[in-house]
Amino acid sequence: EIEIKIGIFGSGGIGKSTITIRFLKDIFVEDYDPTITDIYIKKNDLNDKKIKFIILDTALQEEHYDPFPNYVRETNIFVLIYSITYKESFEEIKYFDERIKRILDIEDKDYPKILIGNKSDLTMKREVSIKEGKELAKKLNCKFIETSAKTGENINQLFYETILLEIER
Ligand code: GDP
Ligand code: MG
Repeated sequence: EIEIKIGIFGSGGIGKSTITIRFLKDIFVEDYDPTITDIYIKKNDLNDKKIKFIILDTALQEEHYDPFPNYVRETNIFVLIYSITYKESFEEIKYFDERIKRILDIEDKDYPKILIGNKSDLTMKREVSIKEGKELAKKLNCKFIETSAKTGENINQLFYETILLEIER
């Protein structure tokens, strides 16, 4: 069995929970509570291998302490998500990357991650181009995919990539 500890990171409102639930249940939710952090488990078979996805869907709403360092330590494969409709969430990816590196104490080394541009169905509201996404992924030294939790586009592909990252790790 391959066990993959996945952390879902990114600004609020960009679709972290919606992507997680789309993968778990193949449904689209409109109004998941934005303050909830939770862990989900999904088991799959891929060819002859059993895969156990352990997914940490983060939210940064705690008042009395900062849970972020613990989220990072609980994670082996990092999914960094922004929304293509919200430029600020794209800019914030580099701060997530810097914080993660600092917590892992690996300033110049790499860690297993993938960059995701979500809400690809909202083409009329696009603020971040595919080219910008690709360029950032190149800087971060990782793969890049655009997803839509609404249509389901590339959601399975995203989690398939985490298997490849886990195998390489
Ligand atoms: P989180 O704070 O990052 O967990 O964001 P949520 O998963 O709660 O999503 C915030 C809002 O964006 C919700 O209303 C979702 O239904 C919506 N949303 C999430 N993903 C998509 C997507 O791919 N397309 C569209 N159109 N809406 C989405
Ligand atoms: Mg959420």
